[in-house]
Amino acid sequence: MIRLLLSAAERLATSTPNTTREDQTRMRRNWTIGRLLGIPIDIDLSWIAMAVLLTAALATGFMERLFPLLDTRWKWSMAAVLCVLLFISILLHEVAHCWVAQKEQMQVDGISLFVFGGVAKLSSEPRSPVSEMKMAVAGPLMSLGVAGVAAALSWSLGLFTFLGEADEIFRYLARLNFFLAAFNLLPGFPLDGGRIFRALLWWSTNDLLTATRIASSAGQAFGLGLVALGCYLAVRSPATGLVQGFWFVLIGWFLGGAARLSMEQTVAYKLFARVPVCDIMNRAVEVIPSTVSVQEAVDGYFLRRPRPFFPVVDGSELKGMITLHRVRKLPREKWCEMCVSEAVESLPNREWVAADENGLVALKQLMGNGTTRLVVVRDGEVVGSLERADIRNYVHVRNILKV
Ligand SMILES: [Zn+2]
Repeated sequence: MIRLLLSAAERLATSTPNTTREDQTRMRRNWTIGRLLGIPIDIDLSWIAMAVLLTAALATGFMERLFPLLDTRWKWSMAAVLCVLLFISILLHEVAHCWVAQKEQMQVDGISLFVFGGVAKLSSEPRSPVSEMKMAVAGPLMSLGVAGVAAALSWSLGLFTFLGEADEIFRYLARLNFFLAAFNLLPGFPLDGGRIFRALLWWSTNDLLTATRIASSAGQAFGLGLVALGCYLAVRSPATGLVQGFWFVLIGWFLGGAARLSMEQTVAYKLFARVPVCDIMNRAVEVIPSTVSVQEAVDGYFLRRPRPFFPVVDGSELKGMITLHRVRKLPREKWCEMCVSEAVESLPNREWVAADENGLVALKQLMGNGTTRLVVVRDGEVVGSLERADIRNYVHVRNILKV
């Protein structure tokens, strides 16, 4: 349905620093169910809840109306099949976006299905307005294609009268896919229609940032409009419009937030592509000298700051890291006599970044693999650290100063 720039985009906007446990809890809300075109497909807990509700609504409403004489078990089974077909429809829509994104040399992190539909997670901005346009239209085109196939199947099944109302199921699927295409073409960024709008603005202004700013404002206004419409529907006739109004408010709220988030991401991308890590990093980095004992490391570092690891240095030269996991495995009676240098492990690539590297590389590292703090290294020496909070603070200060 919408495409977000970063796989863990919401973490930058909402996370508190060093929330390893929080990240783990969040990860447990998602299940990877497989891969398509090499892209991992995640299902969010909210989608499963939605699927159960939808199946129940279809079984007791649509199927009941269509096949009043059919056994209840059959009605529920057919409702579940229709729900799976809807799931496949949304998936195909997102896969179409991702397929074009891959063709346009963009990195696709995955597809997530959640309560409002699907999100294709991309790690970079499109290279040109034409790329953006191609990607934006791919999803709705796929949905229209699926709607066409479903309509054709419905028409064919309608020829066999002994199948009763079976053609209605495919007619329903065709309508759903048509709705999926039409809704996504609404001009509320980051919906596909809003993306098309941004591509046109980008093409005419030749400036991605200006185009994103305008499209994002329009997207936020669109979200607010949906919220207002939802409130109006709920107030006008509470008996029939309350549930419908509630959904409009929820979707409007979500789209408004997504529009603002997409704007922040684009600004961050443009900004960090030209800022070196050493300009954003925190220079007061905590390191453990390799000569101290494990007991001293526990008392003086791990117990004071609950971090999963600390860099270990010899002078200022980086020797590796000591992890909480490693310390836990050491016999406690050896903690006093054992030196940290004896328990040191090499620092994995994902945990450190070079001081002269551009900020975008560090940002992707922090967003992509659950790392909460990067060690910044220059010529083999530890010179600082970088957390999401440092990045947020940097953006915040620049926003205040308007520089
Ligand atoms: Zn889409």
